[in-house]
Parts: sequence; C-alpha cells; structure tokens
Amino acid sequence: MSRSLILSNSNVIRSDGSLLYRHDIVIRDGVIQSVLPSTEHAVSDCHLSLEDMEVYDCSGCFVTSGLVNLHTHSPMTVLRGIAEDVSVDRWFNEKIWPFESILTPEDIYVGAKLAIYEMLDCGVTAFCDHYFFAEKIVDAAMEAGIRADIAPTIFGALPDWRDDLDDASILIKKVNDKTDGRVKMSIGPHAPYTCPPAVLAACTERAIELKVGTHIHVSETYDQVQESIEQYGKTPFVVLKEVGMLDIPCIIGHGIWIQEEEVFLLGEDSVFAVCPKTYLKLSSGFGNLYKLQWHCLSNHHTPDSYGFVSQSGEGLTSESGGQRLRVGIGTDGAGSSNTLNPIEQVRLYGLLAKHHLGDASAFPCHELWRMLMNGYAVLDDNIGEVAPTYIADLVVWDLATCHTWPVYDPLAAIIYSADARNVRDVLVEGEFKKKAGKVLICDEEELLQQSGGIKERLLAAVPQASKIKY
Ligand SMILES: [Zn+2]
Repeated sequence: MSRSLILSNSNVIRSDGSLLYRHDIVIRDGVIQSVLPSTEHAVSDCHLSLEDMEVYDCSGCFVTSGLVNLHTHSPMTVLRGIAEDVSVDRWFNEKIWPFESILTPEDIYVGAKLAIYEMLDCGVTAFCDHYFFAEKIVDAAMEAGIRADIAPTIFGALPDWRDDLDDASILIKKVNDKTDGRVKMSIGPHAPYTCPPAVLAACTERAIELKVGTHIHVSETYDQVQESIEQYGKTPFVVLKEVGMLDIPCIIGHGIWIQEEEVFLLGEDSVFAVCPKTYLKLSSGFGNLYKLQWHCLSNHHTPDSYGFVSQSGEGLTSESGGQRLRVGIGTDGAGSSNTLNPIEQVRLYGLLAKHHLGDASAFPCHELWRMLMNGYAVLDDNIGEVAPTYIADLVVWDLATCHTWPVYDPLAAIIYSADARNVRDVLVEGEFKKKAGKVLICDEEELLQQSGGIKERLLAAVPQASKIKY
C-alpha cells in the first residue's frame, strides 16, 4: 500500500464557503479518502501504521481546494511591466507586439515556468492558458506537475491560419492522448475581431472532432462590440452562437460588454473568465456583466430591480438564461495585469461590483468564493471539493499574520486581506508543490536569472525599447 498523508486538525472551507472545524483529511494515491472530525482516535481509525502515513499538522490553518486561474497567457511574465500607462491600442501595437513577435520557444518555456512558480506560490493548482508555442507551455506545466488546460492561439487574420489549426490539432491529440491527465489542451481562436466567422466555424468543428473545448476572448471592450456590429451586423456573442461555439465547452475570456439579450445565447458549458485588474489598467469600462450577474444571483431582488426584463416580458431570471451566466476568475497575462494571483482579481471584482452597483451588500464573500471555485467547471477532472473521492489539489492557508489577524470570517480574511504569504502549502494530487512557505518546483534564483536574461535580450533587439525608461 502507498503511504498516506494526513492533514491533521485542518479547518476545511468547502466550495460553497461552508466550514468544517478541526478535521483530519486523509489522502492516498493523490485522492482524498476521508474528511473526519479530528479526535484522539481519528488517526488510528485510518487503520494505518505509523510507517504507512505522514501526519502533517495543520492546526489553526484553513484547507481549501486549490485556486484555478481561468484565463492567462503565462509566458507574458517575461513582458511584465513593459507596457504601462497606455491605451489598449498602443499597449498592443507599440509595446507588446514588437517584443512578443521576437520571443523564442525557449523564452516561452522560461516565461511559463516563471508564471507557474508565481501561481503555485499564490495557491493556484490549475490554470487555463492561451498563447503561441504552446508545446513549450505544456513542457513547463508537465515538469512542474501543475494541472493545466492549454489552448494554442489561432490568429484568423493570418493567411496560414489553417496550417496553425492543423498543427494545433496534432499537438492537442498528442498531449490529450498521452499525458497523465493533469495537462490537457483545447483550441484557442484569439477573438471574433481577429478571427472571421469562417475561422471560428472551423475551430468549433475541429474542437468537436477532437472532443475538446475552446478558449477565446470576447467583448472585452465597448469598441469591439460596435466594430462587430459595423462589420457583420451582429454582436460577437451572436457570431459565436451562429458558428456553434456556445454549444460546446467554451471559456469566454472577459465578455464584460455582454448585452442582456446575449445571456440567452450562452450554453451550459459557457464559463466567463474575468480579469478586472486588466480592465482597470486598460480603462475598459464597467461593461454590463456585474449588473447582469448580480441580477441573476440575487433571488431576493424583484425581476426588474435592475431593469432587466426582455421585450417578451420573460425577464432574465435564474431559471431562464440567468443560470447560464457562470463567471470564474482569471488573471490575464502579466503584460497587462502584472500579477497572476486570482485572489487579487476576485477582490477587485467584488470591490468594483459594489461600487458600480451602488450596493455594498452585492457580491458578498461567499459569492466571490463561489466565483473562484467556478473555475473547476471547465476542468474535466474530479476536483474542486475537499471531500472523499476528490483529487487532492489543495491549499493550506495560514491566516495568523499581522495583515489577516484576527480572523472573524476566514472567507473575508482570504478574499480581502490574504496574499501569497498566507499560502503555507500547496498540493497537486497529494504532492507538495509548496511546503512551509517554499515553492518546490525549481531553484528560484536560477529562474530569475533566466528571465532577467530574456529582458536584456529583448531590450537590445527592439529599437522602440530605447524609449522605455528603466
Ligand atoms: Zn487574455
């Protein structure tokens, strides 16, 4: 029999925010076997000898499922801070693209590794990625042993997009067939404004063939919606619906400018990944999502309290289209949001929503916690709960620090006060990836040197870089 790990005296926070005080979590072969109240006899009740188990004391700590970063571009860590205080157009055209276009596969690998290190440090045990040279991200994720769903980016405006889709399909098939299941792949058309409908239709068809989902940016700004209406006579969500992409699993990066009637177009497996730090940085506006989401979540509000009743009078209720408005938390890449911590993002989301709605009671802590856990909806594994039979992707939070203490409400402490310093341990399938405050996947100094070297090379290679002051 393999050795068991027992997280003893843990305070467990479930995915719905409910609490179990002082429980022992028994993990074997990466799977949670039992979650039982800690008693003097709990360990002996496991019928294990001391040689068969490691008892790891979690007294005073809180154990939760690991966090999911539902939308990122992990290799962009090497571009962290390179494009500040500019409009979204200048951000991309003048700052990001000149550097991005000269990144090598090795840069992508190092950038992804740096991102994975940072994410594990923050308590992320799974991430959904969207970038080019995706095979290098697969390598970095598999070496680190983190869970990931990686989508090779397809730019439909490029003449050879069909070749890119074929290459992506070969890689997806190879990875999805052969790995241990922690790292999977899906198809990543960039966005409706960079991929014409024919390209989106081809990506959807390919995703169905390969039995995978899609991951795409949608309606991130007001201008993107208006340009779609001008070009195609329809909004981006209508375009996606018509090509069938909303009828298969789909991660909708952003989508904050969704319109009320578009909620009815969403499928059961459509999940939004919001990244509010990027919206603040690039001045993307509030959009409509906060209001629509809160309307759907708040059963205590009357149907028209925020003015959302369709022309047919049906109204957007949690029973109609509203149940499909499922929103999770991403970070976007470090090129726009600088950090890859979902806790920082959900904190901003809650604060912005309260401010925008003019309602301090909107998006209470347990709803924000559920948003963090919504990321599990897109990962086809038995994860996302601290309960028997679930895979042990877990975080041990130590909230006994000056910036979180005292703890009246652990969810409030995590969402509004905690940072990576409070993430004491991180486990993926029962293996420690961070233990006693130290990330274990690689040497940090070496990683910093490698990524610092990329910065020097990029600055030397791109003429525009001379204008950037460091
Ligand atoms: Zn993005």
